[in-house]
Amino acid sequence: MVFLCPYCQNNDVVKSGKKKNKSGIKQWHKCNNCKRHFVERDGFERMRLSPEIIVKAVNQHNHGISLSKIKDELQQRYNVKVSRWAICKWTKKYSDLVQKSQKQSSGINHFSQTKMDEGQRYTK
Ligand SMILES: [Zn+2]
Repeated sequence: MVFLCPYCQNNDVVKSGKKKNKSGIKQWHKCNNCKRHFVERDGFERMRLSPEIIVKAVNQHNHGISLSKIKDELQQRYNVKVSRWAICKWTKKYSDLVQKSQKQSSGINHFSQTKMDEGQRYTK
């Protein structure tokens, strides 16, 4: 399973050992892109989709395609099962990012991990 870094959405994430805290033993991870450490948590470990898929879904939604249609396409084309609610959350979370990246490049085909990272920094 691939984790996305919660800070930069990069998927170049490695396990960096287990640490004990109040709520038990937690698996820690290190992002090779932004060098930050973070612990596995609810919601995060379910983010196993590549940024490309999320961007595609957000884009389709911005073009007025219905959530159920996007959901069907993701399932058919990428064999990923997501809820309409999840897509809805992506559109809220990533819309700005996707729009910025489109302004910077000529469109979705040129969207890259680097662009995603730049977009993330811009928002901070
Ligand atoms: Zn990162």
